Amino acid sequence: MENHNHILKELELKATPKRLAILDVLSCASTYLSPEEVWKRLKERFSTVGLPTVYRNLEELADGGVIFKVIHPDRKLYYFFCDNRKHHHHFICTSCKRVDDLNFCAYKELEKEVSQTLNGTISSHIMQVFGICRHCTPVKEAK
Ligand SMILES: [Zn+2]
Ligand SMILES: [Zn+2]
Ligand SMILES: [Zn+2]
Repeated sequence: MENHNHILKELELKATPKRLAILDVLSCASTYLSPEEVWKRLKERFSTVGLPTVYRNLEELADGGVIFKVIHPDRKLYYFFCDNRKHHHHFICTSCKRVDDLNFCAYKELEKEVSQTLNGTISSHIMQVFGICRHCTPVKEAK
């Protein structure tokens, strides 16, 4: 199992056993998970852990930039793990819940647009792209 100590250290977050276990759960999943799903898997190791603790730790890890929150159209809360520290975005499949890195950003064009039309400057931006991934796209049968 991958050791996530160094990530927490890098982001100056305390590496508590529960945080490390949550990172394990999320990094093994390769999909986004709801707090309840993380909780269920965490209980295999920490039988007495409560859901509020899971919520709090997920929030702290997301604030620290270790995990990401899905801004889902269904307005429910989900998280996923990504260790790509470069600026990038995510393509999120709403069918199988898998998350792919999207090494594309239209920031330069956006910046230009904002400065030219609004006379403003961008300080940060969030972009998550939802759709159906290649695994969930039915293969077109050759006739
Ligand atoms: Zn999919
Ligand atoms: Zn990523
Ligand atoms: Zn970007």
